Amino acid sequence: GQSSKKYKRVMLKISGEALMGDQGFGLHPPTVERIAREVKTVHDMGVEICMVIGGGNIFRGLQGSAQGMERTTADYMGMLATVMNALGMQAAMEDLGIHTRVISAITMNEVAEPYIRRRAVRHLEKGRVCIFAAGTGNPYFTTDTAATLRANEMACEAIFKGTKVDGVYDKDPAKHDDAKRYDKVTYDEVLAQHLNVMDASAIALARDNDLPIIVFSLDEPGGFKGILAGEGTYTIVN
Ligand code: UDP
Repeated sequence: GQSSKKYKRVMLKISGEALMGDQGFGLHPPTVERIAREVKTVHDMGVEICMVIGGGNIFRGLQGSAQGMERTTADYMGMLATVMNALGMQAAMEDLGIHTRVISAITMNEVAEPYIRRRAVRHLEKGRVCIFAAGTGNPYFTTDTAATLRANEMACEAIFKGTKVDGVYDKDPAKHDDAKRYDKVTYDEVLAQHLNVMDASAIALARDNDLPIIVFSLDEPGGFKGILAGEGTYTIVN
């Protein structure tokens, strides 16, 4: 293990694509349930958990606008996609007996709470997992930026970015045998070398607020819990 730091409150960011399994689109319930179980093991350690889930398995604003759709409308559609993912994750976690709240940056009181910072903090203190949906509520942003923003607001000690690989590489390890994994990398190196961690606005927001980003594999069973227990392989950006 690289660290024995004890985390009290963390942000878990996963992409929408993490929920789709091998389907290529949408939500794959057994995959959502598998991730919910991973989160439960960390919740069982007494760690307070915030989550942000992307929407790329359903709709991406940039893709829509590349095909001729007006950009802000496409982005709102992307934000709504994240709400669907959040509801799917909420249902899977509640099935496991974890209390959760979906908190949406776009008000839709019938399906999610509005975002009120103090109220969200209170949920965390009571052991409820807060799933922040609808991104930042603004077009031209991403859920990586939303995760960084909420992590700062909620005073999380780190963002855990769950991916398909066990950290940050200098090139895509799925395509290059000689790809090199970093144990540690700085925010500025990520930005200068265009390393694939999160988009530049999210990296800058994390850097300016000294929020570490831990990139790890969500495909590794027990991986999330392992890192919180000071084990496993990951890259820390700080
Ligand atoms: N989005 C947005 N503002 C935000 C967050 C998300 O407009 O604050 C839109 C944007 O169109 C984006 C889509 O929602 O493409 C889905 O989010 P993202 O691409 O971050 O999902 P991921 O790639 O993590 O699945």
